[in-house]
Amino acid sequence: MNAIERALLRLERTLGASKVLTDRAACEPYARDESEAEGVVPPGVVRVASAADVAAVLAVCDDERVTVVPRGGATGRTGGAVPVVPSVVIDTLALNAVKDVDRANRTAVVEPGVLTGALHSLVEAEGLFFPPDPLSAEWCCLGGNVAENAGGPRAFKYGVTREYTLGVECALMGGSVVRAGHRTSKGVAGYDLTALLVGSEGTLGVFTELTLRLVPLPGEVRTLVASFATLDDAGAAVAAVVARGLTPRCIELIDDVCCGVMRANDPAVLPPGAHAVLVIECDGRHPGAVDDEAERVADACLDARATAVERARTPEAREALWSVRKVMSRALRATARYKLSEDVVVPRTRVPDLLRAVRAIAESERVVMPAYGHAGDGNLHVNLLWNDDSERPKVHRAIERLFRATLDLGGTLTGEHGIGVLKAPYLAWEQSPELIDLQRRVKAAFDPHGLLNPEKIFAPGGAPSHRGC
Ligand SMILES: Cc1cc2nc3c(=O)[nH]c(=O)nc-3n(C[C@H](O)[C@H](O)[C@H](O)COP(=O)(O)OP(=O)(O)OC[C@H]3O[C@@H](n4cnc5c(N)ncnc54)[C@H](O)[C@@H]3O)c2cc1C
Repeated sequence: MNAIERALLRLERTLGASKVLTDRAACEPYARDESEAEGVVPPGVVRVASAADVAAVLAVCDDERVTVVPRGGATGRTGGAVPVVPSVVIDTLALNAVKDVDRANRTAVVEPGVLTGALHSLVEAEGLFFPPDPLSAEWCCLGGNVAENAGGPRAFKYGVTREYTLGVECALMGGSVVRAGHRTSKGVAGYDLTALLVGSEGTLGVFTELTLRLVPLPGEVRTLVASFATLDDAGAAVAAVVARGLTPRCIELIDDVCCGVMRANDPAVLPPGAHAVLVIECDGRHPGAVDDEAERVADACLDARATAVERARTPEAREALWSVRKVMSRALRATARYKLSEDVVVPRTRVPDLLRAVRAIAESERVVMPAYGHAGDGNLHVNLLWNDDSERPKVHRAIERLFRATLDLGGTLTGEHGIGVLKAPYLAWEQSPELIDLQRRVKAAFDPHGLLNPEKIFAPGGAPSHRGC
């Protein structure tokens, strides 16, 4: 019997056989997420139902020196939840209780398997708001969001998940459970380990409870769709809106290929003829103030060469627009056999430069590279689409050129999807050896034997080679 078999047998005895999957067919779906990362079918999956279950898995696996991969909704884009070596997967979907929503203190205490969209609906019914809104909210979990420090369209005004995570309960390799952070709105005792654990991509510990910050619900929302004759004009308009001191809650850019994909899904959601659009939303609690801001945003767009600015007139029209935007990524995937989605970020004033660089790379490498995303934050989802395995070398070149261009523009390789396994070979392009070494030592303090989510963030070594192509 090998170490994994021994660990799984011990876990069956401790937790009960119903929580431990070992049948290959049942384990097969756990070899994938929503990225192109190539995983191995894990020999075992534990469906945890309590913090004690998680602690038991981490105690047994540490003892047997078996690697462990935490998993939430598996919507990750960089293979974070994909086992790349035979491992025990911790499935957190059943760890999904909302333990408390405290209106007076504006906090929620949840287990990590709660779906993000479910929390949105629950707190909004109470007049509260959890701003982080990854467009996967219907399918992803809060544990995965905290592990990735997820963002979303509303991050432009409200910031990302880290700003809304007050504290975490976290199980560590070896089986101890620690609490970091606080339930109060302020708290500075000791190192800010909550901030460190947010965005740690399941490599330091496994969240078993999250204390989240809520804000009052901004009941008034206005949605604008600004059309442009060129992508350059749309990119320049982003900076123009910001330069006027306006803070809409989101500024989303959609290029002509992506406009086509959205129109194919629902012809009514975008104006015909536009080659690029910005979807901009303003929100607040006072209708007059929100109308005023929306008007000023529309003026800024028109002054920046928008050919038209339309308003979503009804809640239904707004809902239709967002439902098509939410499935953009999957709709794009359906247009080609292979798709990779990068989520590079540049200073927002450099968005036009990034768009020009993408166009130049796409033309010279002859790769289809549609772009859309959270342009207000300078965060664009640049996609690479191809149909034939023989095209992989040029796709690989295009990705590397995109990363170089992003870094040359003062940007970063990932704004919300994390490094995971796909970008691990490129971390050293952005960060110094000293910084990477320091992070490896932090990892070793949490996980001395390197068993938790191996090969994520830090590549095992060797020449850069994008794992998805
Ligand atoms: C259509 C679509 C749209 C998307 N839009 C956005 C977007 O707008 N913004 C954005 O930020 N992302 C977006 N994403 C990416 C993805 O949804 C996010 O990264 C999300 O946070 C992942 O959550 P998950 O529950 O699916 O996590 P998983 O994919 O299951 O896991 C992600 C990482 O978290 C770790 N993890 C999971 N649970 C735990 C836990 N309890 N403790 C410790 N580590 C854990 C895993 O090990 C892995 O490293 C999108 C994805 C899709 C498919």
